[in-house]
Amino acid sequence: MTPEEIKTKDKDIHAFLEVFDSPKPYGDGPLSGKTIAIKDNILFEGHKVSAASRILGHFTAPYDATVVKKLKDAGAIIVGRTNMDEFAMGSSTENSAFGVTKNPHDLDRVAGGSSGGSAAAVAAGMVDMALGSDTGGSIRQPAAFCGVVGLKPTYGRVSRHGLIAMASSFDQIGPIAKTVREVESLYNVIKGEDPMDSTTISDATYPARNNFLKVIGVPKSFIENEGVKKEVKENFKVAIEKFKSLGYKIKEVEVESLRHALPVYYIVMPAEVSSNLARFDGVKYGLHIDGENGIDDYFKTRGEGFGREVRRRVILGTYVLSSGYYDEYYGKALEARALITSDLRKLFQDVDLMLTPTTPGPAWKIGEKSKDPLEMYLEDIFTVHANISGCPAISLPSGSAGALPLGIELTADLGREDNLFAAGKEFMGE
Ligand code: GLN
Repeated sequence: MTPEEIKTKDKDIHAFLEVFDSPKPYGDGPLSGKTIAIKDNILFEGHKVSAASRILGHFTAPYDATVVKKLKDAGAIIVGRTNMDEFAMGSSTENSAFGVTKNPHDLDRVAGGSSGGSAAAVAAGMVDMALGSDTGGSIRQPAAFCGVVGLKPTYGRVSRHGLIAMASSFDQIGPIAKTVREVESLYNVIKGEDPMDSTTISDATYPARNNFLKVIGVPKSFIENEGVKKEVKENFKVAIEKFKSLGYKIKEVEVESLRHALPVYYIVMPAEVSSNLARFDGVKYGLHIDGENGIDDYFKTRGEGFGREVRRRVILGTYVLSSGYYDEYYGKALEARALITSDLRKLFQDVDLMLTPTTPGPAWKIGEKSKDPLEMYLEDIFTVHANISGCPAISLPSGSAGALPLGIELTADLGREDNLFAAGKEFMGE
């Protein structure tokens, strides 16, 4: 679509915070001619970048994120910035300071989040591909809600240089597209070691292994959870049968520590959020509101610049890190994080992949869950383990609940994106 066509289409959906007027390709390469949207927490030099927050409402990116440099070199056409939950905190884009993104399959429903704008832009055919970021499911969950493919790469696979940080030990940038093939080609462009991000890894860290035996583990008791909708359970069974018919061996597995994943995430994530967001002090970046004195400036700027959910998480984070509670919450959560990681790594000695639904239900009605933050947090039950352990995971469209798409999720061992692509392509018939 041309920028004008995108703008017209986007009147209903609001996937974009900005569509650039004359987007142009920079280089020539594997993405030549492909149109790409980027989540608005990724820096693109000379363009606004807001993280969908009032505190950065008028901020212009002073440099390119490493992924943007790579997109330019690969010949991609970057057409605009997509809507998201403020600072990537949320599962519906309802926390954006600039309006909610609607699900292209049903305009009364959310597109998911926090990369809801990126997933909706792809699903509505406004762009070929998009970049999102995933801290606890923010690429995979909106991909599932919008009926497209989304990948959270292995931690360190993709540079975070130029990504506005949410929780740095979980954050990864990743691709969203309609097919596994396109997701793979975008992933191949953006991955790689980067001197600007010391947590990045090279391909040599996880050398390719030719031992894909097509064994999939299903953590049945974890999925039997009462919060998981009937349609999701039914649909999941269909997906299992499909894998069987493709020659996969399905093995029932038990990963006891997975039930701790959600509480671990909701302790460690806000701790990192509270320290990462300390830099938004009204002095160095973005919004500044004058108060009586320096401290008052700070309270006013942050009080008005940050939305409710962001303030809630900063408060939760400072609480779990405060002396007296650090050992009880943050310290314990880190121990549980190590346990979950080692349990998953052990599992991947027996199976190539773990299969779960991506979400416990389909996209909900706009406004339905905004009153109860806990209800929204529970939606992340099947996605956070991948960020906790660093493992890569992909969401594939699979079945539906009425008009609403559903997704299944495959998780692989660290560095084993190749297995996700192999199984994903077979499952999608590509
Ligand atoms: N929904 C999760 C949260 O609210 C995940 C967000 C994300 O991955 N950025 O924290």
